[in-house]
Amino acid sequence: MPRATPARVAQVVTQEWGTELIQSWNKNGWFAMPQQVGDKIARLIGAAPGEVVATDSTSVNLFKVLSAAMNIAAADAPNGPMTRKRIVSERSNFPTDLYIAEALCKQHGMELVLVEPEEIAASLTADVAVLMLTHVNYRTGAMHHMAAVTAAAHAEGILTVWDLAHSAGAVPVDLKKARADFAVGCGYKYLNGGPGAPAFVWVNPQHADRPDLPFMQPLAGWWGHVAPFEFTPDYRPAPGIRRYQCGTQPIISLAALECGVDTLLAAEPLGGMAALRSKSLALTDLFIALVEERCAGHGLGLATPREHAQRGSQVCLTKDQGAYAIVQALIARGVIGDYRAGDPSILRQAQDGPSSGQTGKKDILRFGFTPLYIGFVDVWNAVEQLKQVLESGEWQRPEFNRKHAVT
Ligand SMILES: *Cc1c(COP(=O)(O)O)cnc(C)c1O
Repeated sequence: MPRATPARVAQVVTQEWGTELIQSWNKNGWFAMPQQVGDKIARLIGAAPGEVVATDSTSVNLFKVLSAAMNIAAADAPNGPMTRKRIVSERSNFPTDLYIAEALCKQHGMELVLVEPEEIAASLTADVAVLMLTHVNYRTGAMHHMAAVTAAAHAEGILTVWDLAHSAGAVPVDLKKARADFAVGCGYKYLNGGPGAPAFVWVNPQHADRPDLPFMQPLAGWWGHVAPFEFTPDYRPAPGIRRYQCGTQPIISLAALECGVDTLLAAEPLGGMAALRSKSLALTDLFIALVEERCAGHGLGLATPREHAQRGSQVCLTKDQGAYAIVQALIARGVIGDYRAGDPSILRQAQDGPSSGQTGKKDILRFGFTPLYIGFVDVWNAVEQLKQVLESGEWQRPEFNRKHAVT
């Protein structure tokens, strides 16, 4: 939690809400907060002011941009709306992204095609409407080359939707340079916005305004109206990114998110995301080297790519057995990582025959390295604790083997 957050949230609650009540929508800038925080996030992801809003959840924002991309693809398809009837994504993408895409495909009579990373290029055919990818894979920490993948999609007339949940505030992102079409991302991971913090949404300005598609973004709530306080019965979308807002926004959560984003922006004079990236790679390199040196012989594997260009800001270790309990034992020692179960699709693939992809088949111990405040000493200490947990076998104790609702 950023140091500034408790005082800022207290100020919003006690003063802005407690004494100034609804005046704060104007007086304290509440109404403009989604755009104000969005403009700050824009600086971290290679977007311009006025192109990003902080709003809703990642899942909801994904529904909005995927719908918009599908609507644009249908409107622009030269041989009728159903010539592009597929959405392509990665089998190991975060499940909510896949569920949202599957629901939209069902609703539009389209097909969701899931592939392994090395199959993406071959899957980009003329019947595909949208390529939807998460830039840094939540399960492995593998990072796509956004510009190259986007160019390959565009060569086939395919629109791209990027999920930056594990990228924003973690690695440098340049959406404009990559010529991406749509992006969403999470406020409560590397942006440190707090539990349930609003997410964000970016739309390339070339797609933001389509006079022929007023309902391109189908969650057409009044906060996306050009003039919400005229209370007209007809919907007229606001220009630019504002149409991606739906209803009244969570102001207290937006205030907390702004503190997290400000903390990252405070690094700008010191080199910003480029400097943070250098430190992040040094931290993850050190962690990998120390684990291999000091925890050898315990059956740990590495799911995260060693190549810097393909690595996000996390390191994922694999283990055949006991990954969950090892993470619980580490948490009890103050080293807080997460456990992610082996890819459940392996079961289906085993029935279907061998698959070429080997991504994320084993259980995973995931360690995130937030370069703003994780230091090299923390890395040393975390590996020392991991070594002790493995050598003592304490992870086998029953209390570390009880599954909680949230893993
Ligand atoms: C964390 C994460 C989400 C979370 O979505 P919510 O709607 O905020 O729950 C979505 N997609 C990816 C890739 C994530 O890593």
